[in-house]
Amino acid sequence: MRKINDEEHLWVIVPVKRLDDSKSRLGELPGRRELMFAMAEATLSFFGEWSRVTGVICVTSDPAVRRVAIKHKAVVLDDPGTGLNGASSTGLDWLKKRGKSNAIIVHADFLRHSLADVNSAYNSYLTQRENGAVIGGIRSADGAGTNAIVLPSQLDFTALFGPNSFHRYTTTYQENFVEIKAPCFSHDIDYLENISSSLELGPAESKVDMVLKDIQDKAFDIELSAEIDTSVLASRARELRDRGHGDLITFSPKVFLPLTELCRDVCHYCTFAKTPKRIKAPYMTLDRVLDVARQGAKLGCSEALFTLGDRPEDRYKAARDWLTENGYSSTVDYLVDTAKAVIDETGLLPHINAGCLNSEEMRRLKPVSASMGLMLESASERLCEKGEAHYGSPDKWPSVRLAMIEEAGRQNIPFTTGILIGIGETRDERIDALAKINALHLRYGHIQEIIVQNFMPKPGTKMAEAEPAKIDEMVWTIAMARIIFGPDMSIQAPPNLNTGELGLTIGVVYRR
Ligand code: SF4
Repeated sequence: MRKINDEEHLWVIVPVKRLDDSKSRLGELPGRRELMFAMAEATLSFFGEWSRVTGVICVTSDPAVRRVAIKHKAVVLDDPGTGLNGASSTGLDWLKKRGKSNAIIVHADFLRHSLADVNSAYNSYLTQRENGAVIGGIRSADGAGTNAIVLPSQLDFTALFGPNSFHRYTTTYQENFVEIKAPCFSHDIDYLENISSSLELGPAESKVDMVLKDIQDKAFDIELSAEIDTSVLASRARELRDRGHGDLITFSPKVFLPLTELCRDVCHYCTFAKTPKRIKAPYMTLDRVLDVARQGAKLGCSEALFTLGDRPEDRYKAARDWLTENGYSSTVDYLVDTAKAVIDETGLLPHINAGCLNSEEMRRLKPVSASMGLMLESASERLCEKGEAHYGSPDKWPSVRLAMIEEAGRQNIPFTTGILIGIGETRDERIDALAKINALHLRYGHIQEIIVQNFMPKPGTKMAEAEPAKIDEMVWTIAMARIIFGPDMSIQAPPNLNTGELGLTIGVVYRR
Protein backbone atom coordinates (compact mmCIF):
# COMPACT_ATOMS: atom_id res chain seq x y z
CA MET A 1 0.00 0.00 0.00
CA ARG A 2 1.20 3.49 -0.72
CA LYS A 3 2.35 6.00 1.81
CA ILE A 4 0.46 9.26 1.76
CA ASN A 5 2.02 12.43 3.13
CA ASP A 6 0.00 15.20 1.62
CA GLU A 7 -3.00 16.72 3.40
CA GLU A 8 -6.11 16.07 1.35
CA HIS A 9 -9.75 16.93 1.32
CA LEU A 10 -11.89 15.04 3.78
CA TRP A 11 -15.26 13.59 2.89
CA VAL A 12 -17.60 11.80 5.26
CA ILE A 13 -19.71 8.90 4.04
CA VAL A 14 -22.83 8.22 6.15
CA PRO A 15 -24.76 5.11 5.11
CA VAL A 16 -28.30 5.11 6.55
CA LYS A 17 -30.62 2.12 6.18
CA ARG A 18 -34.34 2.55 5.61
CA LEU A 19 -35.62 3.64 9.00
CA ASP A 20 -38.39 1.04 9.07
CA ASP A 21 -35.85 -1.74 8.62
CA SER A 22 -33.15 -0.51 10.98
CA LYS A 23 -32.37 -1.56 14.53
CA SER A 24 -34.82 -4.40 14.88
CA ARG A 25 -32.97 -5.22 18.10
CA LEU A 26 -34.64 -2.13 19.55
CA GLY A 27 -37.97 -3.50 18.35
CA GLU A 28 -39.91 -3.04 21.57
CA LEU A 29 -38.78 0.55 21.98
CA PRO A 30 -41.64 2.95 21.29
CA GLY A 31 -40.39 5.68 18.98
CA ARG A 32 -37.58 3.55 17.55
CA ARG A 33 -37.98 5.06 14.06
CA GLU A 34 -37.96 8.61 15.43
CA LEU A 35 -34.80 7.88 17.38
CA MET A 36 -33.05 6.48 14.30
CA PHE A 37 -34.07 9.53 12.33
CA ALA A 38 -32.90 11.95 15.03
CA MET A 39 -29.52 10.20 15.28
CA ALA A 40 -29.10 10.22 11.49
CA GLU A 41 -29.87 13.93 11.35
CA ALA A 42 -27.49 14.61 14.25
CA THR A 43 -24.71 12.78 12.38
CA LEU A 44 -25.32 14.60 9.10
CA SER A 45 -25.55 17.95 10.85
CA PHE A 46 -22.41 17.36 12.93
CA PHE A 47 -20.17 16.41 10.03
CA GLY A 48 -21.71 19.04 7.79
CA GLU A 49 -20.56 21.68 10.26
CA TRP A 50 -17.12 20.25 11.06
CA SER A 51 -14.61 22.71 9.62
CA ARG A 52 -12.21 20.02 8.36
CA VAL A 53 -14.85 18.38 6.18
CA THR A 54 -15.10 19.14 2.47
CA GLY A 55 -18.42 17.41 2.05
CA VAL A 56 -20.79 14.75 3.37
CA ILE A 57 -22.24 11.88 1.37
CA CYS A 58 -25.38 10.20 2.62
CA VAL A 59 -26.09 6.81 1.07
CA THR A 60 -29.70 5.95 1.70
CA SER A 61 -32.96 4.87 0.15
CA ASP A 62 -35.10 6.28 2.94
CA PRO A 63 -37.15 9.26 1.71
CA ALA A 64 -37.15 11.05 5.09
CA VAL A 65 -33.40 10.65 5.47
CA ARG A 66 -32.87 11.87 1.89
CA ARG A 67 -34.81 15.02 2.67
CA VAL A 68 -32.92 15.77 5.84
CA ALA A 69 -29.57 15.00 4.16
CA ILE A 70 -30.37 17.54 1.45
CA LYS A 71 -31.34 20.01 4.15
CA HIS A 72 -27.86 19.61 5.61
CA LYS A 73 -26.28 20.03 2.16
CA ALA A 74 -25.10 16.44 1.86
CA VAL A 75 -24.64 14.64 -1.46
CA VAL A 76 -27.32 11.95 -1.51
CA LEU A 77 -26.65 8.62 -3.25
CA ASP A 78 -29.06 5.72 -3.65
CA ASP A 79 -28.40 2.80 -1.37
CA PRO A 80 -27.94 -0.27 -3.62
CA GLY A 81 -29.67 -2.35 -0.92
CA THR A 82 -26.75 -4.69 -0.34
CA GLY A 83 -26.16 -3.71 3.25
CA LEU A 84 -23.74 -1.42 5.00
CA ASN A 85 -20.72 -2.64 3.06
CA GLY A 86 -22.42 -2.06 -0.28
CA ALA A 87 -23.52 1.42 0.80
CA SER A 88 -19.96 2.22 1.91
CA SER A 89 -18.58 1.11 -1.47
CA THR A 90 -21.13 3.30 -3.23
CA GLY A 91 -19.83 6.33 -1.36
CA LEU A 92 -16.19 5.43 -1.97
CA ASP A 93 -16.79 4.80 -5.71
CA TRP A 94 -18.35 8.26 -6.02
CA LEU A 95 -15.27 9.79 -4.40
CA LYS A 96 -12.77 7.78 -6.45
CA LYS A 97 -14.19 9.26 -9.62
CA ARG A 98 -13.64 12.75 -8.28
CA GLY A 99 -10.00 12.64 -7.29
CA LYS A 100 -7.94 12.35 -4.18
CA SER A 101 -9.43 12.76 -0.75
CA ASN A 102 -9.58 11.13 2.62
CA ALA A 103 -12.82 9.51 3.63
CA ILE A 104 -14.48 8.71 6.90
CA ILE A 105 -17.17 6.06 6.72
CA VAL A 106 -19.25 6.45 9.83
CA HIS A 107 -22.44 4.91 11.16
CA ALA A 108 -25.43 7.10 11.98
CA ASP A 109 -26.51 5.67 15.30
CA PHE A 110 -24.90 7.80 17.98
CA LEU A 111 -26.62 9.86 20.65
CA ARG A 112 -23.91 12.48 20.74
CA HIS A 113 -20.96 13.71 18.71
CA SER A 114 -17.91 15.32 20.22
CA LEU A 115 -15.80 17.72 18.21
CA ALA A 116 -12.87 17.10 20.55
CA ASP A 117 -13.16 13.33 20.02
CA VAL A 118 -13.35 13.52 16.26
CA ASN A 119 -10.52 16.05 15.94
CA SER A 120 -8.27 13.97 18.12
CA ALA A 121 -9.18 10.76 16.25
CA TYR A 122 -8.47 12.33 12.86
CA ASN A 123 -5.18 13.84 14.06
CA SER A 124 -4.21 10.45 15.40
CA TYR A 125 -5.04 8.88 12.04
CA LEU A 126 -2.95 11.44 10.12
CA THR A 127 0.00 10.91 12.46
CA GLN A 128 -0.12 7.13 12.22
CA ARG A 129 -0.48 7.30 8.47
CA GLU A 130 2.98 8.86 8.38
CA ASN A 131 4.26 5.53 9.66
CA GLY A 132 2.69 3.58 6.85
CA ALA A 133 -0.72 2.60 8.16
CA VAL A 134 -3.46 3.88 5.88
CA ILE A 135 -6.68 2.63 7.41
CA GLY A 136 -7.89 3.75 10.81
CA GLY A 137 -10.76 2.04 12.60
CA ILE A 138 -12.86 3.12 15.57
CA ARG A 139 -13.85 0.09 17.55
CA SER A 140 -17.30 -0.30 19.10
CA ALA A 141 -17.59 -0.26 22.90
CA ASP A 142 -18.07 -4.05 23.04
CA GLY A 143 -14.70 -4.45 21.28
CA ALA A 144 -16.05 -6.55 18.40
CA GLY A 145 -17.56 -4.12 15.92
CA THR A 146 -16.25 -1.17 13.94
CA ASN A 147 -18.20 2.09 14.03
CA ALA A 148 -16.06 4.21 11.73
CA ILE A 149 -13.25 3.80 9.21
CA VAL A 150 -10.85 6.51 7.99
CA LEU A 151 -8.94 5.92 4.79
CA PRO A 152 -7.75 7.46 1.52
CA SER A 153 -10.71 7.21 -0.83
CA GLN A 154 -8.47 6.01 -3.69
CA LEU A 155 -7.42 2.93 -1.78
CA ASP A 156 -8.34 -0.51 -3.00
CA PHE A 157 -10.59 -1.23 -0.05
CA THR A 158 -13.37 -3.63 0.77
CA ALA A 159 -15.67 -2.66 3.64
CA LEU A 160 -16.06 -5.47 6.17
CA PHE A 161 -18.70 -4.08 8.56
CA GLY A 162 -20.75 -6.67 10.42
CA PRO A 163 -20.27 -9.02 13.39
CA ASN A 164 -16.64 -9.15 14.61
CA SER A 165 -15.65 -6.67 11.94
CA PHE A 166 -12.80 -5.20 13.94
CA HIS A 167 -11.04 -8.55 14.01
CA ARG A 168 -11.63 -9.01 10.28
CA TYR A 169 -10.26 -5.55 9.47
CA THR A 170 -7.18 -6.31 11.55
CA THR A 171 -6.49 -9.66 9.93
CA THR A 172 -7.31 -8.50 6.39
CA TYR A 173 -5.37 -5.22 6.37
CA GLN A 174 -2.78 -6.21 8.98
CA GLU A 175 -0.05 -3.57 9.52
CA ASN A 176 -1.94 -1.12 7.32
CA PHE A 177 -4.82 -1.05 9.77
CA VAL A 178 -4.63 0.84 13.08
CA GLU A 179 -7.08 1.51 15.84
CA ILE A 180 -7.95 5.13 16.54
CA LYS A 181 -9.92 6.30 19.51
CA ALA A 182 -13.02 8.48 19.61
CA PRO A 183 -15.18 7.62 22.64
CA CYS A 184 -18.31 9.26 21.28
CA PHE A 185 -18.18 6.96 18.24
CA SER A 186 -17.55 3.83 20.25
CA HIS A 187 -21.03 3.93 21.75
CA ASP A 188 -23.48 3.17 18.97
CA ILE A 189 -27.08 2.23 19.73
CA ASP A 190 -27.95 -1.39 19.03
CA TYR A 191 -29.68 -2.39 22.25
CA LEU A 192 -31.71 -0.55 24.88
CA GLU A 193 -28.85 -0.70 27.38
CA ASN A 194 -26.57 1.08 24.87
CA ILE A 195 -28.67 4.22 25.40
CA SER A 196 -27.72 4.55 29.05
CA SER A 197 -24.07 3.62 28.53
CA SER A 198 -23.80 6.21 25.77
CA LEU A 199 -25.45 8.89 27.90
CA GLU A 200 -22.85 8.27 30.59
CA LEU A 201 -20.36 9.99 28.25
CA GLY A 202 -22.44 13.15 28.23
CA PRO A 203 -25.82 14.50 27.19
CA ALA A 204 -27.39 13.57 23.89
CA GLU A 205 -27.67 16.05 21.02
CA SER A 206 -30.63 18.29 21.75
CA LYS A 207 -32.92 16.81 19.09
CA VAL A 208 -31.99 13.26 20.05
CA ASP A 209 -32.59 14.18 23.67
CA MET A 210 -36.09 15.43 22.81
CA VAL A 211 -36.84 12.13 21.08
CA LEU A 212 -35.53 10.18 24.07
CA LYS A 213 -37.81 12.16 26.37
CA ASP A 214 -40.73 11.47 24.07
CA ILE A 215 -39.85 7.78 24.08
CA GLN A 216 -39.83 7.89 27.84
CA ASP A 217 -43.29 9.51 27.83
CA LYS A 218 -44.57 6.83 25.50
CA ALA A 219 -43.10 4.20 27.80
CA PHE A 220 -45.15 5.71 30.59
CA ASP A 221 -48.36 5.30 28.57
CA ILE A 222 -47.58 1.71 27.81
CA GLU A 223 -46.53 0.53 31.20
CA LEU A 224 -49.23 1.92 33.43
CA SER A 225 -51.09 -1.34 33.67
CA ALA A 226 -51.56 -3.75 36.54
CA GLU A 227 -51.23 -6.70 34.17
CA ILE A 228 -47.75 -5.96 32.91
CA ASP A 229 -45.22 -8.64 33.69
CA THR A 230 -42.57 -7.87 36.31
CA SER A 231 -39.64 -8.81 34.07
CA VAL A 232 -40.80 -6.48 31.27
CA LEU A 233 -41.36 -3.68 33.75
CA ALA A 234 -38.01 -4.22 35.49
CA SER A 235 -36.12 -4.22 32.22
CA ARG A 236 -37.58 -0.84 31.25
CA ALA A 237 -37.01 0.48 34.76
CA ARG A 238 -33.33 -0.52 34.68
CA GLU A 239 -32.83 1.30 31.43
CA LEU A 240 -34.34 4.48 32.89
CA ARG A 241 -32.40 4.10 36.13
CA ASP A 242 -29.11 3.64 34.28
CA ARG A 243 -29.84 6.76 32.29
CA GLY A 244 -30.47 8.82 35.41
CA HIS A 245 -28.12 7.35 37.97
CA GLY A 246 -25.80 4.79 36.40
CA ASP A 247 -24.54 2.55 39.18
CA LEU A 248 -24.68 5.20 41.88
CA ILE A 249 -26.16 4.19 45.24
CA THR A 250 -26.52 6.95 47.80
CA PHE A 251 -27.38 7.09 51.46
CA SER A 252 -27.71 9.81 54.04
CA PRO A 253 -25.81 9.21 57.30
CA LYS A 254 -28.27 10.28 59.96
CA VAL A 255 -29.36 10.15 63.56
CA PHE A 256 -32.87 8.98 64.29
CA LEU A 257 -34.80 11.27 66.63
CA PRO A 258 -38.22 9.88 67.62
CA LEU A 259 -39.29 13.09 69.34
CA THR A 260 -42.52 11.42 70.44
CA GLU A 261 -43.80 7.89 69.96
CA LEU A 262 -47.32 8.88 70.89
CA CYS A 263 -49.82 9.19 68.04
CA ARG A 264 -53.50 9.93 67.70
CA ASP A 265 -53.85 7.34 64.91
CA VAL A 266 -54.20 3.58 65.20
CA CYS A 267 -52.79 2.10 61.98
CA HIS A 268 -53.23 -1.66 62.16
CA TYR A 269 -49.62 -2.49 61.25
CA CYS A 270 -47.77 0.15 63.26
CA THR A 271 -45.12 -0.69 65.85
CA PHE A 272 -43.76 2.84 66.12
CA ALA A 273 -46.68 4.32 68.05
CA LYS A 274 -46.93 3.45 71.75
CA THR A 275 -49.42 4.29 74.46
CA PRO A 276 -48.19 6.50 77.35
CA LYS A 277 -48.04 3.48 79.63
CA ARG A 278 -45.44 1.78 77.45
CA ILE A 279 -42.96 4.64 77.31
CA LYS A 280 -40.87 6.41 79.92
CA ALA A 281 -41.79 9.92 78.81
CA PRO A 282 -44.16 11.41 76.23
CA TYR A 283 -41.37 13.34 74.47
CA MET A 284 -37.57 13.19 74.16
CA THR A 285 -36.13 16.06 76.17
CA LEU A 286 -34.16 18.72 74.36
CA ASP A 287 -31.02 17.61 76.19
CA ARG A 288 -31.48 14.04 75.01
CA VAL A 289 -32.12 15.18 71.44
CA LEU A 290 -28.96 17.27 71.43
CA ASP A 291 -26.95 14.49 73.02
CA VAL A 292 -27.92 12.03 70.25
CA ALA A 293 -27.38 14.67 67.56
CA ARG A 294 -23.91 15.56 68.87
CA GLN A 295 -22.89 11.91 68.94
CA GLY A 296 -24.11 11.56 65.36
CA ALA A 297 -22.26 14.66 64.23
CA LYS A 298 -19.05 13.27 65.75
CA LEU A 299 -19.55 10.05 63.81
CA GLY A 300 -19.96 11.92 60.52
CA CYS A 301 -23.73 12.13 60.24
CA SER A 302 -25.20 14.99 58.25
CA GLU A 303 -28.93 14.50 58.82
CA ALA A 304 -31.18 14.66 61.89
CA LEU A 305 -34.26 12.61 61.06
CA PHE A 306 -37.13 13.79 63.28
CA THR A 307 -39.86 11.16 63.36
CA LEU A 308 -43.07 11.71 65.29
CA GLY A 309 -46.53 10.32 65.72
CA ASP A 310 -49.43 12.50 64.55
CA ARG A 311 -50.72 15.15 67.02
CA PRO A 312 -50.50 13.06 70.19
CA GLU A 313 -51.87 15.95 72.24
CA ASP A 314 -55.27 15.42 70.56
CA ARG A 315 -55.51 11.95 72.07
CA TYR A 316 -53.36 11.77 75.20
CA LYS A 317 -53.55 13.86 78.37
CA ALA A 318 -49.94 12.85 79.09
CA ALA A 319 -48.83 14.63 75.93
CA ARG A 320 -50.86 17.76 76.67
CA ASP A 321 -49.53 17.91 80.24
CA TRP A 322 -45.89 17.48 79.16
CA LEU A 323 -46.19 20.23 76.56
CA THR A 324 -47.84 22.61 79.02
CA GLU A 325 -45.22 21.92 81.69
CA ASN A 326 -42.48 22.68 79.20
CA GLY A 327 -44.07 25.85 77.86
CA TYR A 328 -45.40 24.57 74.54
CA SER A 329 -48.94 24.59 73.19
CA SER A 330 -48.44 21.85 70.59
CA THR A 331 -46.05 19.16 69.43
CA VAL A 332 -45.15 21.30 66.44
CA ASP A 333 -44.25 24.20 68.77
CA TYR A 334 -41.76 21.94 70.51
CA LEU A 335 -40.50 20.53 67.23
CA VAL A 336 -39.73 24.01 65.85
CA ASP A 337 -37.55 24.81 68.86
CA THR A 338 -35.87 21.42 68.87
CA ALA A 339 -35.02 21.43 65.17
CA LYS A 340 -33.56 24.93 65.49
CA ALA A 341 -31.44 23.86 68.46
CA VAL A 342 -30.11 20.86 66.51
CA ILE A 343 -29.01 23.11 63.65
CA ASP A 344 -27.49 25.72 65.97
CA GLU A 345 -25.73 23.27 68.28
CA THR A 346 -24.66 20.46 65.94
CA GLY A 347 -24.93 21.61 62.33
CA LEU A 348 -26.97 18.52 61.41
CA LEU A 349 -29.72 19.15 58.87
CA PRO A 350 -33.21 18.30 60.15
CA HIS A 351 -35.53 16.26 57.96
CA ILE A 352 -39.01 16.51 59.45
CA ASN A 353 -41.35 13.53 59.48
CA ALA A 354 -44.09 14.81 61.77
CA GLY A 355 -47.20 13.34 60.17
CA CYS A 356 -49.87 15.53 58.63
CA LEU A 357 -49.07 19.21 59.04
CA ASN A 358 -51.12 22.21 58.01
CA SER A 359 -49.74 25.04 55.92
CA GLU A 360 -48.96 27.29 58.89
CA GLU A 361 -47.08 24.51 60.65
CA MET A 362 -45.06 23.82 57.53
CA ARG A 363 -44.30 27.52 57.16
CA ARG A 364 -42.92 27.57 60.71
CA LEU A 365 -40.87 24.40 60.21
CA LYS A 366 -39.40 25.36 56.85
CA PRO A 367 -36.68 27.70 58.21
CA VAL A 368 -35.51 25.05 60.69
CA SER A 369 -35.33 22.09 58.33
CA ALA A 370 -33.67 20.97 55.11
CA SER A 371 -36.65 18.97 53.94
CA MET A 372 -39.85 17.29 55.09
CA GLY A 373 -41.59 14.02 54.45
CA LEU A 374 -44.90 12.23 54.63
CA MET A 375 -45.60 8.85 53.10
CA LEU A 376 -48.76 8.99 51.04
CA GLU A 377 -48.85 5.23 51.70
CA SER A 378 -51.98 4.74 49.62
CA ALA A 379 -54.40 6.82 47.61
CA SER A 380 -57.16 4.30 48.26
CA GLU A 381 -60.01 5.54 50.45
CA ARG A 382 -61.17 1.93 50.55
CA LEU A 383 -58.33 1.21 52.99
CA CYS A 384 -59.90 3.68 55.46
CA GLU A 385 -63.10 1.63 55.67
CA LYS A 386 -63.96 -0.65 58.56
CA GLY A 387 -61.77 -3.75 58.64
CA GLU A 388 -59.05 -2.19 56.52
CA ALA A 389 -55.55 -1.12 57.60
CA HIS A 390 -56.26 2.61 57.91
CA TYR A 391 -59.66 2.38 59.62
CA GLY A 392 -59.69 4.73 62.62
CA SER A 393 -56.68 6.78 61.48
CA PRO A 394 -57.92 10.22 60.41
CA ASP A 395 -54.49 11.24 59.18
CA LYS A 396 -54.43 8.39 56.69
CA TRP A 397 -57.17 9.78 54.50
CA PRO A 398 -55.49 10.10 51.09
CA SER A 399 -56.99 13.53 50.46
CA VAL A 400 -55.46 14.86 53.70
CA ARG A 401 -52.03 13.50 52.85
CA LEU A 402 -52.15 14.64 49.23
CA ALA A 403 -53.12 18.10 50.46
CA MET A 404 -49.97 18.25 52.59
CA ILE A 405 -47.79 17.01 49.73
CA GLU A 406 -49.29 19.72 47.53
CA GLU A 407 -48.81 22.39 50.18
CA ALA A 408 -45.14 21.42 50.41
CA GLY A 409 -44.95 22.04 46.68
CA ARG A 410 -46.60 25.44 47.05
CA GLN A 411 -44.11 26.37 49.74
CA ASN A 412 -41.20 25.01 47.71
CA ILE A 413 -40.22 22.52 50.41
CA PRO A 414 -38.06 19.58 49.27
CA PHE A 415 -40.23 16.59 50.05
CA THR A 416 -39.91 12.83 50.49
CA THR A 417 -42.96 10.63 50.09
CA GLY A 418 -43.93 7.22 48.82
CA ILE A 419 -46.22 4.28 49.19
CA LEU A 420 -46.59 1.31 51.49
CA ILE A 421 -47.42 -1.93 49.73
CA GLY A 422 -49.03 -5.13 50.97
CA ILE A 423 -51.64 -3.54 53.25
CA GLY A 424 -54.61 -4.64 51.18
CA GLU A 425 -54.24 -2.37 48.17
CA THR A 426 -54.36 -3.54 44.55
CA ARG A 427 -51.73 -2.93 41.87
CA ASP A 428 -54.08 -0.44 40.21
CA GLU A 429 -54.35 1.45 43.48
CA ARG A 430 -50.55 1.58 43.71
CA ILE A 431 -50.32 2.98 40.21
CA ASP A 432 -52.98 5.52 41.15
CA ALA A 433 -51.04 6.60 44.25
CA LEU A 434 -47.75 6.96 42.37
CA ALA A 435 -49.44 8.82 39.52
CA LYS A 436 -51.08 11.26 41.98
CA ILE A 437 -47.71 12.02 43.58
CA ASN A 438 -46.16 12.42 40.16
CA ALA A 439 -48.90 14.84 39.10
CA LEU A 440 -48.00 17.05 42.07
CA HIS A 441 -44.29 16.70 41.33
CA LEU A 442 -44.82 17.69 37.71
CA ARG A 443 -46.64 20.78 38.94
CA TYR A 444 -44.28 21.85 41.71
CA GLY A 445 -41.03 19.90 41.14
CA HIS A 446 -40.50 19.40 44.85
CA ILE A 447 -40.37 15.63 45.33
CA GLN A 448 -36.80 14.67 46.15
CA GLU A 449 -37.29 10.98 46.79
CA ILE A 450 -39.91 8.26 46.40
CA ILE A 451 -40.00 5.45 48.93
CA VAL A 452 -41.52 2.11 48.09
CA GLN A 453 -41.95 0.40 51.43
CA ASN A 454 -43.07 -3.17 51.94
CA PHE A 455 -45.46 -4.16 54.71
CA MET A 456 -43.98 -6.59 57.24
CA PRO A 457 -46.29 -8.05 59.90
CA LYS A 458 -45.16 -7.28 63.43
CA PRO A 459 -46.13 -9.12 66.61
CA GLY A 460 -48.54 -7.24 68.82
CA THR A 461 -50.27 -5.42 65.95
CA LYS A 462 -53.72 -6.06 64.49
CA MET A 463 -52.09 -7.24 61.28
CA ALA A 464 -49.61 -9.56 62.98
CA GLU A 465 -51.04 -12.57 61.14
CA ALA A 466 -51.28 -10.88 57.73
CA GLU A 467 -49.01 -11.97 54.88
CA PRO A 468 -45.96 -9.77 54.26
CA ALA A 469 -45.71 -8.04 50.90
CA LYS A 470 -44.28 -10.48 48.37
CA ILE A 471 -40.87 -9.71 46.88
CA ASP A 472 -42.26 -9.94 43.33
CA GLU A 473 -44.83 -7.29 44.22
CA MET A 474 -42.05 -5.17 45.67
CA VAL A 475 -39.93 -5.43 42.52
CA TRP A 476 -42.98 -4.78 40.33
CA THR A 477 -43.86 -1.65 42.29
CA ILE A 478 -40.32 -0.28 42.43
CA ALA A 479 -40.08 -0.74 38.67
CA MET A 480 -43.46 0.94 38.17
CA ALA A 481 -42.33 3.86 40.32
CA ARG A 482 -39.20 4.26 38.20
CA ILE A 483 -41.25 4.24 35.01
CA ILE A 484 -43.76 6.73 36.35
CA PHE A 485 -41.17 9.12 37.78
CA GLY A 486 -38.56 8.68 35.06
CA PRO A 487 -34.77 8.43 35.15
CA ASP A 488 -33.90 11.28 37.47
CA MET A 489 -35.98 10.56 40.58
CA SER A 490 -34.29 9.04 43.63
CA ILE A 491 -36.13 5.88 44.59
CA GLN A 492 -35.64 4.13 47.89
CA ALA A 493 -36.62 0.63 48.97
CA PRO A 494 -35.84 0.38 52.69
CA PRO A 495 -32.89 -2.02 52.95
CA ASN A 496 -33.74 -2.90 56.57
CA LEU A 497 -37.06 -4.37 55.43
CA ASN A 498 -35.54 -6.32 52.55
CA THR A 499 -32.42 -7.81 54.07
CA GLY A 500 -32.71 -11.15 52.28
CA GLU A 501 -33.68 -9.58 48.98
CA LEU A 502 -31.27 -6.71 48.60
CA GLY A 503 -29.98 -8.02 45.28
CA LEU A 504 -33.45 -8.07 43.77
CA THR A 505 -34.57 -4.70 45.04
CA ILE A 506 -31.24 -3.05 44.33
CA GLY A 507 -31.37 -4.65 40.89
CA VAL A 508 -34.42 -2.57 40.11
CA VAL A 509 -33.80 0.46 42.24
CA TYR A 510 -30.18 1.13 41.69
CA ARG A 511 -28.07 -1.15 39.59
CA ARG A 512 -28.07 -4.16 37.32
S1 SF4 B 1 -49.89 7.57 61.84
FE1 SF4 B 1 -47.85 6.68 61.77
S2 SF4 B 1 -47.17 6.61 63.87
FE2 SF4 B 1 -49.36 6.93 63.92
S3 SF4 B 1 -50.22 4.89 64.10
FE3 SF4 B 1 -50.18 5.35 61.94
S4 SF4 B 1 -48.21 4.54 61.21
FE4 SF4 B 1 -48.13 4.65 63.44
